[in-house]
Amino acid sequence: DASCDWSSDVCSSDLVTFDYMEKYLRGLIPDHQGMLKELEEYSIDNKVPIVQKETGRFLELMVDLTKPKRILELGTAIGYSSILMSVASKRNSKITTIERDKEMVEKATVNIHKYGFEDDIEILEGDCLEIIESIEDKFDIIFMDAGKGHYNHFLPHCLRLLNKDGIIIADNVLFRGMVPSDELVKRRKITIVKRMRTYLELVSKDEELITSVIPMGDGIAVTKRRGI
Ligand code: SAH
Ligand code: MG
Repeated sequence: DASCDWSSDVCSSDLVTFDYMEKYLRGLIPDHQGMLKELEEYSIDNKVPIVQKETGRFLELMVDLTKPKRILELGTAIGYSSILMSVASKRNSKITTIERDKEMVEKATVNIHKYGFEDDIEILEGDCLEIIESIEDKFDIIFMDAGKGHYNHFLPHCLRLLNKDGIIIADNVLFRGMVPSDELVKRRKITIVKRMRTYLELVSKDEELITSVIPMGDGIAVTKRRGI
């Protein structure tokens, strides 16, 4: 229930759903092997954020369902979600991913070469806000996973770059439960939370768009231009 105490055991600290449900749903998803497993282990050992297991599964499903020729990702980190989506597309998608942290760019570049994805995944180094302005290509999936306080600023650019039937998948939109509940908002996060609410209102109220917010992982919003 909405009044659940986020600091207690009942709810987890960085997921928006209940522990027992999360645990069960995660248990249904088979573990990755090989490179994805290695990257998952690296992310845990080095405390680098990657998409949660069920979010990763959802991305795989979206890629399989929509068969994107081109994917734009905001926030590469170590390249995990890029590689995951490339694998899900059976390498039929070209992925462009943006990262501003130099160390992350280096790590992701190493991984992309190590696992042989250099023909499929291109990293652009820099701030999403700047880079996205200079992009002219069109994309079938845009995965927003960086700069949580800027989704509302990225949105006009994402819409400009989105193909007619393309979808925007935004991660972390419920931000540890802070977005739906004032009581959970940490003081330092207030600006991010307010802007995330703005994003969700923009994509939900615009009559030319259709959005579904899914309380999975840290919250996902899937947006598409109305086709009918
Ligand atoms: N999508 C990745 C995880 C990305 S974590 C995966 O699931 O594997 C978010 C990343 O976004 C971090 O590496 C951070 O450095 C980067 N980032 C944050 N704000 C950014 C910005 N404004 N421009 C570019 N990258 C940004
Ligand atoms: Mg995320």
